[in-house]
Amino acid sequence: MSRESTVRIGLLLPDVLGTYSDRGNAVVLAQRLLRRGIDADVIMVTAGSSPPGGCDLYVIGGGEDAAQSFAAEWLLGHRDLRLALQTTRVLAVCAGLQVLGQWVGDGHGRRQPGLGILDLTTSPGPRRAVGEVLTRCAVPGVGLLTGFENHRGMTQLGPDAAPLAAVMHGVGNGSVDGSEGALTSTVVGTYMHGPVLARNPVLADHLLQGVVGGPLPALELPDQEGVRQLHLALAHRPFERLGPVRAAIDRRRSP
Ligand code: GLN
Repeated sequence: MSRESTVRIGLLLPDVLGTYSDRGNAVVLAQRLLRRGIDADVIMVTAGSSPPGGCDLYVIGGGEDAAQSFAAEWLLGHRDLRLALQTTRVLAVCAGLQVLGQWVGDGHGRRQPGLGILDLTTSPGPRRAVGEVLTRCAVPGVGLLTGFENHRGMTQLGPDAAPLAAVMHGVGNGSVDGSEGALTSTVVGTYMHGPVLARNPVLADHLLQGVVGGPLPALELPDQEGVRQLHLALAHRPFERLGPVRAAIDRRRSP
């Protein structure tokens, strides 16, 4: 796309997969473009709407099992969108990641079909994974990522899938390879909420560079960097020693 045109960010099913504030990822993406002088629109694609064509980037978030199941069927029922998701850049978080895979099992032998865009499958684990996650991202130059996870589904990557990151703390995909999420030339999939792009803006720029077709100028946002550093500190420390870090976060949040 040319830099003169508006970047259209399709926020998929915010009314269904909206439990974890993952819609904030769309805001981060749009703001990081707007602050660089590139026009951007967030298009809310709710369950009652017909998906618009021609988005440059799609964002899909996490949610409960029933909401996820509805979302999978809804996506499979919208052929044009399903085809667009095969070639357009996508950020998929948690339930969003799982539904882009081959299937999601319910532990009783039933497998709900996914979109088959990612070579991965998901089955319920022995217990829910809840807590902070720290990973090292496979995308060159991105470095450490932080987020929080809350999922029962554990994801097995197939031979055609590459991980987004290696888990340093937390569960991630929950597979023996210690992987977190999935990465293709167009899809960034992760279990990390936060929203993940608010916590890790360099990952937002990785997606955006793919959309605008080249490097983006640096964007210095000291407050955001401060929050990022605090979350990195949080992820490294045992919980009983978090008092001073929490106090620092509270000081930043107060006006
Ligand atoms: N329902 C899914 C699971 O528990 C996804 C949860 C989520 O999106 N946070 O695995």
